[in-house]
Amino acid sequence: MTAQDLIGRRIEVLDKGFVELVDLMPHPAMGVSGDLAIVNAARVSFLGESKGGEADKKLLFYLLRHEHTSPFEMVEFKFRLRCPLVTYWQLVRHRTANLNLQSGRYTPFEENDFYVPSVWRKQSKSNKQASEGELDPAESDELTRKLVAHYEQSYTLYEEALEKGVSKEMARLFLPGFSVYYTGVWKIDAHNLMRFLRLRMAQEAQYEIRAFANAIHEFFREALPWTAEAFDLYVLKTR
Ligand SMILES: Cc1cc2nc3c(=O)[nH]c(=O)nc-3n(C[C@H](O)[C@H](O)[C@H](O)COP(=O)(O)OP(=O)(O)OC[C@H]3O[C@@H](n4cnc5c(N)ncnc54)[C@H](O)[C@@H]3O)c2cc1C
Repeated sequence: MTAQDLIGRRIEVLDKGFVELVDLMPHPAMGVSGDLAIVNAARVSFLGESKGGEADKKLLFYLLRHEHTSPFEMVEFKFRLRCPLVTYWQLVRHRTANLNLQSGRYTPFEENDFYVPSVWRKQSKSNKQASEGELDPAESDELTRKLVAHYEQSYTLYEEALEKGVSKEMARLFLPGFSVYYTGVWKIDAHNLMRFLRLRMAQEAQYEIRAFANAIHEFFREALPWTAEAFDLYVLKTR
């Protein structure tokens, strides 16, 4: 797949979410790959230019190995994300990214805008903020039925409030906050994206954000193959 094909590509995540690559800098139409843009930025340090394939790749690996990270900030990814709020809650902690979200004050929520998990994970015994194992299928089905009924009831109350003339910004108080799906545009440079991926693809991260991080990693790997290789070698392996 070429970098040009990546723009506009969408990967479905969870039950109703997705990650779509909206834009990339450098844009593929410029004819300079992201990996080369990183190398070119690094060579500015000594006013040099690309020395061709192998030497360029070697330099890129050297940069990441020695944490000379600012050249990686010269590449930027812009994604359109549709995630449940529980995922945005974690995404916004990555302060070096830029985010613009749909407005619940402006756009009414649709009935199917809630996350329904496929399994119910149990509380981990060893880690207070993690999960491990799953409920058995019968218990799981019962809980899912209750969750969907809860969503339906909440949404009915939301609609009732709107019908009474309540503003959208207040009517949404009836909606189950953590589960509601939001669409947003999220922009991040390759250096900070690697920080994000290292933290959010890790086993300790919540399953839902891991699912989004894994999809984002697919775009990263396709757009920056050398950087992704160096990331596996120097960032993930030393975690
Ligand atoms: C498993 C896990 C559990 C977590 N639990 C919690 C939790 O319970 N509560 C909670 O609030 N967060 C929690 N977080 C979020 C975590 O504390 C970080 O905020 C988040 O991972 C973003 O990392 P970051 O600061 O490196 O990224 P970014 O915000 O993108 O920042 C990148 C780097 O830029 C620099 N930087 C950015 N902003 C500043 C600043 N204002 N001042 C100085 N340097 C800055 C730092 O060097 C930082 O490492 C958790 C994260 C993980 C992975």
